[in-house]
Amino acid sequence: MEGLRLGVKVSVAAGLDASEARRKEWLMRELAFCQNCYARIPIDAAICPHCHTSLRDWQEKTYADCLIDALQHLLSEVRMRAIIALGWRGECVAEKPLVDCALRHPIDVIEGLEIVNSLRLIRDSGSDDTALRHLSLYHAARAVRTMAAEILREFPLWQKGTNLAHD
Ligand SMILES: [Zn+2]
Repeated sequence: MEGLRLGVKVSVAAGLDASEARRKEWLMRELAFCQNCYARIPIDAAICPHCHTSLRDWQEKTYADCLIDALQHLLSEVRMRAIIALGWRGECVAEKPLVDCALRHPIDVIEGLEIVNSLRLIRDSGSDDTALRHLSLYHAARAVRTMAAEILREFPLWQKGTNLAHD
């Protein structure tokens, strides 16, 4: 029993316990998609089962760049997968593209809220407030502005860990 407990990896900084980590791994698997046709594919596929593109050809481009490109996709389902994946990965380079995506689709509140959530995760991994502040001021939907403003009142995870005075 004691041995089992010691065997569980706990990442205090990331706020993840073992089951969270498993859930996250499962989600990443769910979120893998072809960089050519954007169909959902197994994460370790070498060739896309849908469009038969060799996925090795895409290795020049970083995975983050591919996800950022997918934010331009016409299907909201494809954009949504990219939004979620960028958040989980804590991609700081995606902040501005995510803000632009939210502003391009002002009436899509669900997408706007998901973008705010991803920006929260990116901020937690060590970024500043610029992106969230922009949405809290300029997004057309009040629900999106409100959620962004609420997150701005919280301290990001990386600051909570180092600044005990605010606990
Ligand atoms: Zn494909």
